[in-house]
Amino acid sequence: MIRARSRSPEDTRQLAASLAELAQPGDLLLLVGDLGAGKTTFTQGFAASLGIDEPVTSPTFTLAREYHGRLLLHHLDVFRLDQIAEVLDLGLPELLDSDGVILIEWGDAIRQALPNDYLEVALTFADGRDASPDERVVALSPVGPRWQARSDTLAAAIRQWAGEPPC
Ligand code: ADP
Ligand code: MG
Repeated sequence: MIRARSRSPEDTRQLAASLAELAQPGDLLLLVGDLGAGKTTFTQGFAASLGIDEPVTSPTFTLAREYHGRLLLHHLDVFRLDQIAEVLDLGLPELLDSDGVILIEWGDAIRQALPNDYLEVALTFADGRDASPDERVVALSPVGPRWQARSDTLAAAIRQWAGEPPC
């Protein structure tokens, strides 16, 4: 697991933008974290780095949103349980076959239905007495060959957000 620290929404966007530079067609990222942890904020930075200039909003009331940039970006949110069934029935198999990059908010909820080949991005509120309300711990877990092959590059890409204070 590769850990980093974000101190502001802009930090999270920039960290996501650095990861997007490593993105390849067919990549899957699971965004994990409580409400307000920064999953949509992460997606915004990721999208901007792919050259997407449309505003990226939460897809909570739609199944999935699609944005055209350097790569096609599919943004899904499976927060509502009924959406999980919908995503599984309708959208997901097709999306996983596509050449785009898929980001799934609350992706851990449908982990079982996904190929074992993804980057998990877990955002948690930093705790501790000195933590500011804008601080988040970002933990990256490469699962499966696609992302494990890039773990060193991943660590290098987010080096500026690592450590200090140790996390
Ligand atoms: P989620 O999609 O996980 O529910 P959002 O990205 O929609 O979360 O919202 C995160 C909220 O927290 C935003 O209002 C954002 O401005 C705020 N925020 C504060 N600090 C951070 C940070 N370090 N990273 C991301 N968002 C942050
Ligand atoms: Mg969200």
